[in-house]
Amino acid sequence: PETIEVPMLAINPEVGGPENLPILKESLDTYDSEIKQTISYKPKLVILGSGWASVGLLKNLRKGDYDVTVISPQNYFLFTPLLPSAATGTLEVKSLMASIRKIVGAVSGHYLEARADKIEFEHKLVKVSQVLPHSGEVRSFYVPYDKLVVAVGSTSNTHGVEGLQYCDRLKSAEDALDIKRKIKNNLELACLPTTSDEERKKLLSFVVCGGGPTGVEFAAEVFDLLNEDLPKLYPKILRQQVSVHIIQSRSNILNTYDEKISEYAMERFRKESIDLLTNARVDRILPDKVIFNQKNPQTGEIERKELPFGLCLWSTGVAQNPLAKQVVTAFSANQRNKRAIETDSHLRVLGNEAKDVYAIGDCSTLRTDLAAHAAEHVRKYIIQKNLRSANNTCDLFSNDEIKKLSLTYEEITDLARQLSKRHPQTREGFLTLHENLPKYDPENKGSLNFEQITHLLKDIESGLTSLPATAQRAHQQGTYLGKKFTKLARITDEHFRRDQIIDADLDESSCKPFKYIHLGSLAYVGNSAVFDLPGYSFVGGLIAMYLWRGVYFAQTVSLRTRVLLFMDWLKRGLFGRDIMTTV
Ligand code: FAD
Repeated sequence: PETIEVPMLAINPEVGGPENLPILKESLDTYDSEIKQTISYKPKLVILGSGWASVGLLKNLRKGDYDVTVISPQNYFLFTPLLPSAATGTLEVKSLMASIRKIVGAVSGHYLEARADKIEFEHKLVKVSQVLPHSGEVRSFYVPYDKLVVAVGSTSNTHGVEGLQYCDRLKSAEDALDIKRKIKNNLELACLPTTSDEERKKLLSFVVCGGGPTGVEFAAEVFDLLNEDLPKLYPKILRQQVSVHIIQSRSNILNTYDEKISEYAMERFRKESIDLLTNARVDRILPDKVIFNQKNPQTGEIERKELPFGLCLWSTGVAQNPLAKQVVTAFSANQRNKRAIETDSHLRVLGNEAKDVYAIGDCSTLRTDLAAHAAEHVRKYIIQKNLRSANNTCDLFSNDEIKKLSLTYEEITDLARQLSKRHPQTREGFLTLHENLPKYDPENKGSLNFEQITHLLKDIESGLTSLPATAQRAHQQGTYLGKKFTKLARITDEHFRRDQIIDADLDESSCKPFKYIHLGSLAYVGNSAVFDLPGYSFVGGLIAMYLWRGVYFAQTVSLRTRVLLFMDWLKRGLFGRDIMTTV
């Protein structure tokens, strides 16, 4: 068929979108079915976001199959796992960044540095805005799509705490640079003769709110910097004037990892005099101190405490991106998860009948039907328990009988432990189970019946991001989608050549559902690393740390970043960390 070139970024102001905004490319109407038959039409694939999920997808597309447009306010891909190292000068921030234009260019796609504000599902349009840096003027336009992939990631979870504007976060390259600059400024200020002892102590107090992998790695990196580089660079600052604190709401840090790993990390931090404040909840952040409540595990009493800081990192998990929230609202009748966009096993947004919108990475969750699955397990458990206790040989219970049977809190916790092994993504939900059990037990019996347990399971499910919010998952989903789109392009082309009309669910008929393969989790805990691999976990010193580096080195997305990383590690080994450079 004859190919006509459509100018890619031409904006036709005459056409107008739903709000009379210009539409990117030619009018949608020009792409009616008549034209699609006369030209070699490439479906418009629009990807929102330039993170792990989008890059996984882009790297698995074939040039020429789709007319690809990537929209993201961030014109680079960021290798997030090493961000704590970049914030403390072990690595350069730019060594973790890869140009998204280069990655998009490999599939002859287009990149727009802008933010997607809204999706008009009915018209197959994405409303996109860009704020002009000098005037603050907002310019908006529409981008039409045939297939849309929402991969906008997540935001930080505030847990409703006031005063977070005084904290730093660690999600973007800018955040890492801000932190590095602050560390340098605090150290320099601490050395001035005009700084009082009290001020110095406050400037050199590093507080991390959240004992998950990011908080732990950042604390470990700060500690290494202060221990290894401070004595040479700032000999006037005494070690005892510097402090690193981790405020964690649970009784241990790294609690989504194997217990052994979590204990090892706690032990190591205690030895290194990193102050671990467990069972503590932040109440408020003031400009120079954190106010928190800590439970005494012996007496159960809650004490109100405060901790002055020179730098406070807020790292307490993820929350929904505003665009993802909007997608969930648009299909509220079919979306039941509170935290992310629910998709089917082919990663298509549930509720969107056209089945042309996909959601991947941190902003999405797979519908698990965990509650039904787990309820079956509970049922078996209840039956077995009652068979045991009544020494009953008959294994038949009627449904009504089962509904009357109950399990004690201890039995439910034991069951939850079993279930969390089968469904690793539920670990977080089941860890808090014990605290929440009384909520489902209005008569205070110390036990729950089958219906109450089912209710509890449904609540756990609705609070789940069905799979962990990790780069590993985002990348696997992107890769799956890239391969699937490449396959679908071949199939539709074939039908087009044979003049056949396709009226089938191509995703389902030609591709297997997405399956997550958990490869394990790692974390750096200060000149040492921990590995939580499926069925096996280990902790170790320097060898584990080099292995940890090796794994990340292998995962970087380009030769350029690999070379830069290698040079950074070499530089750090020879000359120490560089916290002077703040750009
Ligand atoms: P992201 O990578 O966050 O990308 C989202 C993209 O969407 C960004 O480009 C953003 O600019 C863009 N965007 C946002 N809003 C819009 C919008 N409205 N329109 C268009 N674009 C938009 N995971 C691991 O597996 N291992 C680790 O060791 C690890 N360490 C981490 C350390 C840190 C410090 C952090 C912050 C995260 C870490 N993670 C780790 C988690 C991992 O980074 C995330 O799970 C992963 O980035 C999710 O990928 P994503 O593509 O869904 O989202």
